[in-house]
Amino acid sequence: ICASVDEEASAKVAATSAESGGPTIFDKIILKKIPSSIVYEDETVLAFRDVSPQAPVHVLVIPKIKDGLTQLGKAEPRHSEILGHLLFAAKVVAEKEGVVDNFRVVINNGPGACQSVYHLHLHVLGGRQMKWPPG
Ligand code: IMP
Repeated sequence: ICASVDEEASAKVAATSAESGGPTIFDKIILKKIPSSIVYEDETVLAFRDVSPQAPVHVLVIPKIKDGLTQLGKAEPRHSEILGHLLFAAKVVAEKEGVVDNFRVVINNGPGACQSVYHLHLHVLGGRQMKWPPG
C-alpha cells in the first residue's frame, strides 16, 4: 500500500525509530553526512528534494532539531513556533520552485498514513495536476 523500495525493512526501521524517537536518515542529511539537493535552508529548517519524487516538484521541509517531533501527532505547545515556520518555509519552497500558485503540502502521520521516516517532514508537491481525494 505504502510505496517503498523494501517495505518490510523500512517498516521495521520506521517502527524502531518511532518507538525510540532515535536518529533517522534525515539526521545524516542535516549533518550533511549524506548528500541531498537542498532547496532552502535557514537556522531552524532544511528543505531538500525527495529522493523518490512523486511530482515534478517534490521537496521535504524538516526541522533541523527534532525535539520529539517524530510526527505531527506528537506536537506539544512548545512546537507551535517551529510548526508555523515549517509551513511558511513550505510556501518559500513553492515560490522558489515556481509552483506557488498550485501546490500541495502533505504530512503523513503514522503507518496508516504511510509515514516512513520518523522525523517530522512536510512534503511540498507541485508541477502537475493533483487529484482529490489523495489515496
Ligand atoms: P513519509 O513516507 O511521509 O515518511 O516520507 C518520507 C520521504 O522521505 C519519502 O518520500 C522518501 O522518498 C523520502 N526519503 C527517504 N530517504 C531519503 C533521502 O535520503 N533523501 C531524500 N528523501 C528521502
